[in-house]
Amino acid sequence: MFKRKRLIIIVVILGILAASLINFVRGKYVIPILMYHSISPDAKEGESLAITPEIFRKQMRFLQDRHYNIITLEEAVDIIKNKKRVPVRPIVITFDDGYKDNYNYAFPVLKEYNFPATLFIIINEVGRAQADRVSWDEIKTMQASGLVDIGSHTVNHSYLVDLSSQEEIVKEIRDSKKILEDRLGCEIKSFSYPAGRFNERIRRVVVETGYKFAVATNPGMKIPDDDIFALKRLRISRNCANMFVFWVETSGYYNFIRENRSK
Ligand SMILES: [Zn+2]
Repeated sequence: MFKRKRLIIIVVILGILAASLINFVRGKYVIPILMYHSISPDAKEGESLAITPEIFRKQMRFLQDRHYNIITLEEAVDIIKNKKRVPVRPIVITFDDGYKDNYNYAFPVLKEYNFPATLFIIINEVGRAQADRVSWDEIKTMQASGLVDIGSHTVNHSYLVDLSSQEEIVKEIRDSKKILEDRLGCEIKSFSYPAGRFNERIRRVVVETGYKFAVATNPGMKIPDDDIFALKRLRISRNCANMFVFWVETSGYYNFIRENRSK
């Protein structure tokens, strides 16, 4: 009888420990927001801002085959902000800088898989042939598909933290929103900090300008995971051609691993 009581106590303690462990792990989960730049056949080994169309397609097929739930950035923000139930294996796809190859190589794959994505556009780069950037017509075509949402990545891609004048910061953030809205005839809700760099002052301008959310890269653990004006993203580089690496990165725990590894 006495032995049985002891056994029950042990089982209860183990149960409590397991439940706290599950809670701890769950608390570290962050909806993975993938950050792509160029998707180009010329992408070289070791390049961090470009991958080949073959790798991109392989990754999208991986997400499709394993039944990931590709949601829009806005849906992810709604879940984070309103503490809604997270769907099974959610993923958000984003592209920075507005490369023409996004239109030529990524967009057809997104259409094929019916995956939504957000493209962050630099106003003064649109249509610049020397830099291989998308044109307004291409942006409009992608937007009209209903799959691609457009966000602002400033007017000139200036590193906002390096700008000393408040007026210049405001211009980069406010004018880009206004120009996109005039050109595309819709509300621009999202903003992407160039190089992911920002500070409290810059963040405040983004909020006050009327954006609904903003993405960074990985500002580290000093920024809470649920700050919808500094959402952490995962840079998808050549390394992620290895599907095991890609799987770890899309697990939802990569931010936690990274932040604790670099401590
Ligand atoms: Zn950029």
